[in-house]
Amino acid sequence: MTTQRNTETTPATATPEAPAPATVPGTVLCDLEKRMAGEYQAKAGPYVLLRPIGGGREWEADPTAVRPATPAERLSAEVKAVNDRTGRDGVRGPGYDMTRAPVPVPGCGECAELDAQRALARVEFDYSAVSDANVLMRRHQRKDHCA
Ligand SMILES: [Zn+2]
Repeated sequence: MTTQRNTETTPATATPEAPAPATVPGTVLCDLEKRMAGEYQAKAGPYVLLRPIGGGREWEADPTAVRPATPAERLSAEVKAVNDRTGRDGVRGPGYDMTRAPVPVPGCGECAELDAQRALARVEFDYSAVSDANVLMRRHQRKDHCA
C-alpha cells in the first residue's frame, strides 16, 4: 500500500507584506495602540514619529500598528483638537465627561446605525436603550476610530 503524498511547500514569496505606512510628512495616520490620530513626522529608528493633530508632544508609534486615517477619522481628530483647545480656554471641566453622548463619526455606517438606534430609543423614552446605544457607540469608536 503506497500512498504518495507530496509535501506541499508554501512559497515564501506568497506572504504579502503589510503596506508600509505613508512616509510623507503631514500624512494623518491612526495609531491603533494608542487609539490616536497623528500627523506623520519622520522615521525614528524602528518607530514612526507622530504628532497629535493640533499640536502637542510627538510620540513614537509602532509602524505595524499604524494605518492611514480615513477622511472621517481625520475630520473627527481635527474636531477633537479644536474642542480640546476651546475646552482649555473655556470651562475647565473634570476631564472627560462620561455623561456626554458620543457623536457619530460622519461616513461610518456603524456609527450611523447606533445613532439611529439611540434616536429611536429617545423617541420611545427608553433611557436604558439610549445609554446602551451610547455605550456601544463609545466602544465601537474606541475600537474602530481614533477617538
Ligand atoms: Zn463608527
